[in-house]
Amino acid sequence: MSQSQSQGNGKLYVVGIGPGSPEHLTLRAVEVLESVDVIIGNGTYLDQIDHLITGQRVIRSGMGKEVDRAGKAIELARERKVAMVSGGDSNVYGMAGLVLEVARHTDLDVDIEVVPGVTALSAVASLLGAPVVSDFAVISLSDLLTPWDVIEQRLTAAATSDMVIGIYNPKSRQRNTNFMMAVEIIRRHRGDSVPVGIVQNALRPVGESVIVTTLGEAMDHEDKVDMSTTVIIGNSESRIWNSKIITPRGYHKKYEY
Ligand code: SAH
Repeated sequence: MSQSQSQGNGKLYVVGIGPGSPEHLTLRAVEVLESVDVIIGNGTYLDQIDHLITGQRVIRSGMGKEVDRAGKAIELARERKVAMVSGGDSNVYGMAGLVLEVARHTDLDVDIEVVPGVTALSAVASLLGAPVVSDFAVISLSDLLTPWDVIEQRLTAAATSDMVIGIYNPKSRQRNTNFMMAVEIIRRHRGDSVPVGIVQNALRPVGESVIVTTLGEAMDHEDKVDMSTTVIIGNSESRIWNSKIITPRGYHKKYEY
C-alpha cells in the first residue's frame, strides 16, 4: 500500500458480465452487482444487466471513453463500492487491464477485485460444438491499439502453428477490410476445407446467428461478420459433423470408441 494515499472504505470490482444473457452471468457477478453503490460501464453492457439495477447509482460512459471511465471508477472506489462492467470476461480484451494500469499510474490505493466471466470464445465454441478442445490462439483484429503489422505477424504465427484460431473484433465500420485480409493470410498456411465457425451475438437474447462453413467459403458469409461476431478457424484435424465443428483432442489415437 502506498504511504502517500490513505485507503477509504471503498472497493472496485471489474466484473465480466458474460456474452449477454442473464443465464450466463456468474453467481459472483450477480452478487457483486447487487451489493455495490455504483455501477459504471458503457450503455450496451449496462442494458445487459438492467434486471439487476435497483438502487445503485448508474454511470453510463460512451465507447472510446475507457480511460476516463477507469479513472472515474478508481476515484469513486476510494470511498464507495463500485462495479465497472466489462463484456464477456473482464480480462479478455476487457477493462481489467486498463483499470489496473490506471491505478498503478495514479498510485491510488484502492482495493480491486477482478471478477471473471464467460468470454465470447467459450460462448461461441459452445454453439459450434467442440472446436477449441485442443490448443488455440486468440487474436483481435482491432488495430486501434495494436498496429496492423503486428496483427499480421501474429496471424501468420498462429496459422503456421496449426493451432485453432479464435478471432475477436473481426470488423467494425471503420475497419471493414481487416477480416478479409486475415482470411487471406490464414489461407496461405491452411487448406480451404478447414472448418470455420462464424457466430454473431452468441448467447444473446436477440440476433444470434451461427454459421458453419469452410476457410475457402468464409468470405461468402461476410455479411454476418461485424463487431458482434467471433470467428473460429479449425486446425488441420478439425471436421464438420452434423453442422457442428469437432477438433479431435487425440483420444482416438489412444482409445477405441
Ligand atoms: N471481453 C470480451 C471481449 C471484448 S472485445 C469477452 O471476453 O468476450 C469485443 C469482441 O468480442 C467483439 O467484437 C466480438 O468479436 C466478441 N464478442 C463479444 N460478445 C460476443 C457475443 N455475444 N457473440 C459473439 N462475439 C462476441
